[in-house]
Amino acid sequence: MKIMSINAGSSSLKFSLFDMTTENVLISGLFERIGIEGGSYTLKYNGEKIKVEEELPDHSVAVKILLEKLIELQVIKNLEEIQGVGHRIVHGGDKYTESVMVTDEVVNDIIKFSDFAPLHNPAHAICIKAFREVLPNTPMVVVFDTAFHQTIEKARYLYPVPYKWYEEYHVRKYGAHGTSHRYIAIKLSEELKKDNLNIISCHLGNGGSITAIRNGKCVDTSMGFTPHAGIMMGTRSGDIDVSIVPYVMEKEGKSATEIMNDLNKKSGFLGISELSSDSRDIEKGIKEGNEKCILAEEMFVNSVVKYIAQYYVLLGRVDAICFTAGIGENSPETRLDIIEKLAPLGIKMDIEKNNIRGEFAKISTDDSSVSVYVLPTNEELMIAKDTMNIINR
Ligand code: AMP
Repeated sequence: MKIMSINAGSSSLKFSLFDMTTENVLISGLFERIGIEGGSYTLKYNGEKIKVEEELPDHSVAVKILLEKLIELQVIKNLEEIQGVGHRIVHGGDKYTESVMVTDEVVNDIIKFSDFAPLHNPAHAICIKAFREVLPNTPMVVVFDTAFHQTIEKARYLYPVPYKWYEEYHVRKYGAHGTSHRYIAIKLSEELKKDNLNIISCHLGNGGSITAIRNGKCVDTSMGFTPHAGIMMGTRSGDIDVSIVPYVMEKEGKSATEIMNDLNKKSGFLGISELSSDSRDIEKGIKEGNEKCILAEEMFVNSVVKYIAQYYVLLGRVDAICFTAGIGENSPETRLDIIEKLAPLGIKMDIEKNNIRGEFAKISTDDSSVSVYVLPTNEELMIAKDTMNIINR
């Protein structure tokens, strides 16, 4: 069974075509600058990478090129071979607690929830429409990034603000990266051949979030009403005192939107280091003795440690702390900095075992109070699996 996994942004479209018998990726790629001058696409196929410069006026054009290429490269003989398409959706509000089949009602809801994810949800809806036009008989599924967090209890997802804000405007914690955290919960259970695991899942990428998982279900997560909340990130501040917003607005004569832009795009690693949002540049800066890079790393580590310690208490029994995503999978230095600060909880890193990148491994010592793992995330596969399971239901 061949299933296509789609992740669309406002000007991009990422895809992977899976052979679900082996769970191998047959072809993957990225369409960029859709609707913007200078469009291009990259395809990864048979160990080769092809890049083509071509204007992509809208998502429909990108989808048409994508499907034509699959046939031209003989990945598939005809479009009927694609038995399902799964779409990643950033926001499902508080309505969607799991992945569902695409219907007109679902598409309307995705558009309705655009208030919560103005950059992403409209693009998802446009992309679903484009796929439905060219593959009208192919079943499609949507996988919501917020769904996994819907098991958080009310006393944790509410903010202590006027209750009316929740009742009338749906102000509450929704979380994000749910597909990644759910993958980690399932995959770690499979790898360790153990059910009922209590896990602190640390998705540390350009965006980052920490999630407390009890027996496969989310108990709490660091992101909030939007993906702005929680730990410090590449360009996002994470949690800050909200009074900073009107204060700096007045000082700099800026609008709320401009300040939000500063907090979203000019903060985090980039804001503190004044150098880069990329953790590799920060690590290089640290080696060269750049004090702002050293400070940025320490602040990042502190913010992660704060959440891990909080969730350690919340879960009571923790079976695993799991690092994933760009930084979590690839930065032994950052993982070590984090685990060293958790020493008061009896958590200990095995420095040699920690010296790995991008592969599953246990990296704590045998006498560590909690086992620590690196586990590469695979949101695309999770989307394809959900799609297959729902279609087969
Ligand atoms: P993601 O959002 O998951 O793609 O992660 C992006 C972040 O991961 C960036 O800060 C990258 O610097 C970091 N990253 C990716 N690859 C590596 C690597 N090989 N070593 C260190 N950091 C990496």
